[in-house]
Amino acid sequence: MNVVSSDVIVVGAGLIGCAVAHALSRQGAAVLMIDAGAPGSGASQASAGMLCPHIEGSHDPILQQLGAESLARYDTFIHRVRSDSGMDVPYVRNGTLQVAGTDEAAVALANLAESLHAQGVSCQLAEGEAEVRELEPLVRPQRAGLLIQSHGAVRTRDLVEALLHASLHQGARCHQSERVERVAHQDRHVVVETHAHTFHAPHVVVTSGAWSMHLQVEGHPVIPTHPVRGQLLRLQMVDRGLRRVLWGPDIYMVPWADEVLVGATIEHVGFDARATVGGVSQLCAAAEALVPNLSDATFTEVRVGLRPGSPDGLPLIGASERMPGLLYATGHFRNGALLAPLTADLVTDLIRTSSAVVPPAISASRFDL
Ligand SMILES: Cc1cc2nc3c(=O)[nH]c(=O)nc-3n(C[C@H](O)[C@H](O)[C@H](O)COP(=O)(O)OP(=O)(O)OC[C@H]3O[C@@H](n4cnc5c(N)ncnc54)[C@H](O)[C@@H]3O)c2cc1C
Repeated sequence: MNVVSSDVIVVGAGLIGCAVAHALSRQGAAVLMIDAGAPGSGASQASAGMLCPHIEGSHDPILQQLGAESLARYDTFIHRVRSDSGMDVPYVRNGTLQVAGTDEAAVALANLAESLHAQGVSCQLAEGEAEVRELEPLVRPQRAGLLIQSHGAVRTRDLVEALLHASLHQGARCHQSERVERVAHQDRHVVVETHAHTFHAPHVVVTSGAWSMHLQVEGHPVIPTHPVRGQLLRLQMVDRGLRRVLWGPDIYMVPWADEVLVGATIEHVGFDARATVGGVSQLCAAAEALVPNLSDATFTEVRVGLRPGSPDGLPLIGASERMPGLLYATGHFRNGALLAPLTADLVTDLIRTSSAVVPPAISASRFDL
């Protein structure tokens, strides 16, 4: 078996692995990415790319805080990847409109607006059908709407491609179609075994998404990730498109110049990555109910991804307490696109500075890893 060495090995080249590889290689580290399939072919290829911490985190202040911190880094993150890759990455910060169709939902939205105002987050509450229509003429009549101006979206596939390209340009290497079978510790290095190679490095970062639970790490308990299937539609609207991300009770829509993404199902069906009649019809019905014009849209594609769920819905980031040199950056569930810049910075700091710390709520050590 060949033995190959690098400074850092990244196990899994999805969005998180590519963001980590990019951040490290731009600081001069020799990075090797290893992916069981093609880079970006896991959950990341299906991601809607919404960047909306104040909606996703409205029931979890920790997630909201992490998301807001990551969102604050997004302009710089995108600027760097665009200039390091020479590629365009579609990215907007034109806000989200969350709508409420019932009185009860309108009260919840008003409460959210009040709480955001108290936190200093800029937002605008639209009350009644006419005010909501002014913000989004295509939406079916609603009781209320909440515009959160700082939110946005990124085209995740383009982002992964650009991060990979920039990393390779900076000297990183990528082995694809090579599954990591075992991780162990030997002679002050972490050893990574695939069917074809044995790699070793002072640092190894586990970024293998939902599949992290299958990774065998010597002397470690099972990494507690689990797959959560999401189906997402790509549609083309015939006339005008939506103005910005629209978030309804059972569905969200992310408009780009040439298409609208409609998502997403949340299904606990193990590693079954099929698109299903039930999933697609659920999304089509909810989409049409929110934006009637969509009944005439062209159906382009359904994408399916297995989100990396974790026991408490928060990611697992940080150094292993059991194996020196091993780090985790996985379990990002519904927010991997949003949390990519923060995750890449945290991992880079941990590798470069021994005193760097990760907030305890997302530290991998909370699961005894
Ligand atoms: C339908 C849908 C919509 C979403 N919308 C949003 C959104 O709007 N906003 C947002 O922030 N997030 C969203 N997400 C979540 C986001 O996409 C994920 O959190 C993110 O993609 C996770 O990235 P990852 O790199 O950790 O995992 P993945 O993209 O799954 O990558 C893991 C990689 O590891 C590789 N791998 C696995 N096992 C091994 C092994 N043993 N050896 C080597 N390689 C291995 C896989 O091949 C894969 O390429 C959405 C997800 C889905 C499915």
